[in-house]
Amino acid sequence: MTIREQLALHGGTPVRARPYDSERGVNYLNEAEEMNAVTEVMQSRSPFRYYGPDLKRRTEAFENRFKEMLGVRYALGISSGTAALQAGLVGLGVEDGDEVIIPAVTFIATPGAVVMARAVPVFAEVDDTLGLSPESFEANITEKTKAVIPVHLSNVACDMDRIMAVARKHGIKVLEDAAQAIGVMYKGRQVGTFGDAGAFSLQLSKNITTGEGGVLATNDWSVFDRAARFQDQGGQFTTAHGDVRDASQVGATEDLVSGEPFYGTNMRMTEISGALAYAQLGRLEEIVSAMRSRAQSIRQRLSDLPVDWRRIPDPAGEGGNVTMFFQDAEIATKFAEALRAEGIPAGRVYGGRPVYQNPAVLERRTAWTKGCPFNCAEHPTDRTYHLGMCPRSEDLLARSLTIQLGALMTDQDTEDVVRAVRKVAEHLL
Ligand SMILES: *Cc1c(COP(=O)(O)O)cnc(C)c1O
Repeated sequence: MTIREQLALHGGTPVRARPYDSERGVNYLNEAEEMNAVTEVMQSRSPFRYYGPDLKRRTEAFENRFKEMLGVRYALGISSGTAALQAGLVGLGVEDGDEVIIPAVTFIATPGAVVMARAVPVFAEVDDTLGLSPESFEANITEKTKAVIPVHLSNVACDMDRIMAVARKHGIKVLEDAAQAIGVMYKGRQVGTFGDAGAFSLQLSKNITTGEGGVLATNDWSVFDRAARFQDQGGQFTTAHGDVRDASQVGATEDLVSGEPFYGTNMRMTEISGALAYAQLGRLEEIVSAMRSRAQSIRQRLSDLPVDWRRIPDPAGEGGNVTMFFQDAEIATKFAEALRAEGIPAGRVYGGRPVYQNPAVLERRTAWTKGCPFNCAEHPTDRTYHLGMCPRSEDLLARSLTIQLGALMTDQDTEDVVRAVRKVAEHLL
């Protein structure tokens, strides 16, 4: 008989007295490179990207560095990941009443951007990758479907080959939500470069950060141009001041011109963010590969556990993730609680709930009473949402456990994760 250590949850000694550092890019914000980048913009007194007394064009430099990293033709620095999604949908030509398929497992920003683009979110199942199920995507296509947003959740790429095949077969536009996966690769290529456009976030909890910020990447001039104008009052500086951002300046080789001005909004990136983003981008590969090797080591050392592991379509390119599925929701809940008591940051994916469990989604609540996708007179939708809509996703989430990793984890931290999981498993599995 093995003598089990008493769980911290039941008064035993926790594996860790203090949690390890589970942050990424945020850890480097006080480094000289980041501090100097911001200081340079402050000294120039030119924090606005299109003009100033001594403009350093740091946002443009970031966009160029990002383009190079991804190997795409156009990149647009923008105010947030949500803004990148919304501008991306506008860029793709999504309009009133169009349906946009998204996975049941994502952050509220994904369906939010769809509704703010005056379109209607349609929720499809995820599979054991926790990314969009290609089968469910295809099954949800109607004559109203204009676009799909696969979400590369928590540093793992979706099954992009199969998703792209379905999209191409049906002529559906693809906007990748890579907010949680900047720097992640799939079959040797950066995520966000497979579809018609890719949206990234630089918010505080992402792989690299400017506190708030985002990027939209695309190879398609018309997508870029529409998105770039949308986030700039329909083209206040990108079109009206064609000398500031003409086609040749953003890398277009053909004789491409901007379209007619239209009403837009302001989602422009500041030079402070641009400068910071440039500095952070230089650390991305190191951050992602550190997380990947921590994750691989943990999963490998726990591979004998009687659990199902999240399937990772391309482990060579992942950005570091440890997620498993238990037999039922009760074990998952208890396991997470016991691990947290041991000092390990863990929980069920999104608290075990699909994104449509948010009352705003279920009750189709927007800030408007007229002209929203759900009650627009000209383009009404009869789409309603309810719990049980994506049963496979609900089941997977309920049984899931994910452990947060950080870029600065040490061998000891990794060891502690393995020890704590084994300790809890001896009691619960
Ligand atoms: C963070 C996130 C976003 C939104 O990014 P913000 O920069 O916070 O606006 C969108 N989608 C997913 C999946 C996210 O995790």
